[in-house]
Amino acid sequence: MGRSNADIHVLIAGAGLAGALMACYLAREGYRVSLFERRSDPRAHGYAGGRSINLALSARGIAGLAGAGLDERVMRSDAIRMPGRMIHPPGPPNSTTPTYFLPYSHDPKDAINSVSRGGLNLTLIKAAAEHRSVSLTFDHFCIDVDLDSPAPAAIFQKPDGSITRVEADLIIGADGAFSGVRGRLQKTDRFEYSQSYLEHGYKELHIPPAPNSAPRTSAPSANSAVESSSFAMEPHALHIWPRGQSMMIALPNRDGSFTCTLFWPFKGPHSFENLRTPPDIERHFREHYPDAVPLMPTLVEDYTRNPTSSLVTVRCWPWQHGGRVALLGDAAHAIVPFYGQGMNAAFEDCTALSRCLREHPPERSGNRWDFTGALSAYQADRKPNADAIADMAVENFVEMRDKTGQPDFVYRKKVEQAVHHAHLGTVTPQYNLVSFSTVPYAQARQRGRELDRVLDAVIREVPRGSIETLGDANWRSRVAEVAGRVLAGGGSSSGDKRLIDITPAITPTTNVWPGDTCPSREVLCDISRGDNITLSTLRTTVHLGAHADGPNHYGDKAPSVGEMPLDHYIGPCHVIAATTPSAQRVLPQHCTGLDAIRHPRVLIRTGTFPSFESWNSDFAALSVELVEALAAKGVRTIGIDTPSVDLQDSKDLPAHKAILKQGIAILEGLDLQSVAPGEYELIAAPLKLMGFDGSPVRAVLRPLA
Ligand SMILES: Cc1cc2nc3c(=O)[nH]c(=O)nc-3n(C[C@H](O)[C@H](O)[C@H](O)COP(=O)(O)OP(=O)(O)OC[C@H]3O[C@@H](n4cnc5c(N)ncnc54)[C@H](O)[C@@H]3O)c2cc1C
Repeated sequence: MGRSNADIHVLIAGAGLAGALMACYLAREGYRVSLFERRSDPRAHGYAGGRSINLALSARGIAGLAGAGLDERVMRSDAIRMPGRMIHPPGPPNSTTPTYFLPYSHDPKDAINSVSRGGLNLTLIKAAAEHRSVSLTFDHFCIDVDLDSPAPAAIFQKPDGSITRVEADLIIGADGAFSGVRGRLQKTDRFEYSQSYLEHGYKELHIPPAPNSAPRTSAPSANSAVESSSFAMEPHALHIWPRGQSMMIALPNRDGSFTCTLFWPFKGPHSFENLRTPPDIERHFREHYPDAVPLMPTLVEDYTRNPTSSLVTVRCWPWQHGGRVALLGDAAHAIVPFYGQGMNAAFEDCTALSRCLREHPPERSGNRWDFTGALSAYQADRKPNADAIADMAVENFVEMRDKTGQPDFVYRKKVEQAVHHAHLGTVTPQYNLVSFSTVPYAQARQRGRELDRVLDAVIREVPRGSIETLGDANWRSRVAEVAGRVLAGGGSSSGDKRLIDITPAITPTTNVWPGDTCPSREVLCDISRGDNITLSTLRTTVHLGAHADGPNHYGDKAPSVGEMPLDHYIGPCHVIAATTPSAQRVLPQHCTGLDAIRHPRVLIRTGTFPSFESWNSDFAALSVELVEALAAKGVRTIGIDTPSVDLQDSKDLPAHKAILKQGIAILEGLDLQSVAPGEYELIAAPLKLMGFDGSPVRAVLRPLA
């Protein structure tokens, strides 16, 4: 058919971490790539990075680099292993309290790595430039994208104010949290966008190499242990000074220095706003960070001179427009840095987009290339995971600034590692899954929540203080025994830890189909008002949240929901992922895993209806072709993560009718965001509402494997 990727021109706006790595990926696939960057060329002028000087690189980022053959180069030249946190606890004012080390994992091989942002960016830019099919252009600021012309075009402003327009077959916005490309997409119809700032900002400070260490002339080799004597503190640790509402962290640099970052509130007592004069700055640090002050000779100058920057979470949807513009990295999902995952997630985006382009090659449509298949698959794969890491990053802030200093938390972490060690293969802590594996973020979060319930149960039976009374060995076997019991489903009030709840919560703000009856609760008696019981009445549509449709909802004289055989809703099922654009019908070719279907129940994850709390009308729906293909495989129940198996504006309801004809049962409104495709046991029985056209269900899955 004569298609060659060399005929296809991809323009990337932003030669930061994600943009430069993506250029390498695309060049390896043979595409012609133009990389445009607003800053000057760091190969000639040095790196002009304004933000944190070093970053934590972990398994996903390393895997992302490895996909472009760059992992060894980066690890060799730039990384310092950090297998745990060194905690600098608060103590009485002006006195130093001993530090303690909290390993991230029982496995000493597990570590995150401190890398220099500038060094890494430079390595990636040089790697991109080594490909003949990549051209690099600096000092070009993307101010707009022309979405309406036959070929999309990026519009750039140069430092002299002149404007230039560059056409391409595909434009990738890798231009960071304040992306110009995303700015253009925000002006398109039904583009969803939210940004939320923390009340905390950040500011960088500096700890120089240890005073009497020999100046380093060459970098240590292959991520080896660096010479500790060059550093003023332990280099193989991420240092944290947790101080309740605020904290300071420090990461080592290869030259023996540390980059410290303050994460403080903008306003309030312990805040940036309240600390301005040199004497106040010194006094405050001596009081709250007494062990750091002697190591920071330029503290006051750094504090006064360095900017205070804000921390933002950006969410948007969709991440692609018209099959020819896509967002990547922070441009699609900026997150706060407390899990050290923004760059790691951006590198995972590169791997995912590259894989999707291979699996769904662009199609020629007239005189242009259409990337809809690849871009739809990419965003469906990445969005639930980006949302999960965004949430976990905010949660980890509370953990780092506040909990790491608390004995209860330290004990919980110890129990977590002991349970992990005793039940390897069954239990992996959330931090380990996020940082030392490539398990999708959404799954890591789900498994983290499940483990939390196990830890709650273990700590109830083996509370803090038991180590002292039992001794370490007995304590470990007791923790292992209780955890084993809880994991096996016995003796735990939290029940089966493997159950995955796929039912959206019902609240007074839960949306229902436009025009239908919202849920409301009338309280008849209330214990808090002095009644002997609490008693309430629920008024709602029966098509509420996760629900089963009765066939009489869409078929004349068809059975009501109460008459449906229960085995439609209970038993083995498949969860499959569909890569269908919003407002489209899922076709068989959008689904991965159709060939392997052998159970009579199938749940389809489209990812196009994220929440009942904010209704979006452009959710995907089922096609008649897919219903017939599933029926031919013996499927008797189809579930979906949207409010209907038909499109919102459909009047003739072709999917409902095809389902009726095939005698299939319907489940709608399931929450499949954090469910990985696979085989499960489904439990989602409707109420026995005779004559009714639907019923809410409490739907849960239990992995079969
Ligand atoms: C304080 C802090 C600490 C962090 N620590 C970590 C960490 O430890 N680990 C981790 O994984 N992540 C961390 N992150 C997140 C990480 O920095 C980002 O997720 C990562 O840089 C995203 O890469 P990117 O290429 O998408 O965006 P960026 O790195 O921001 O790159 C965007 C590029 O686009 C260019 N650009 C911007 N606008 C335009 C335009 N209009 N036209 C042309 N070019 C443009 C920029 O100059 C830049 O080169 C941290 C972030 C912060 C703020």
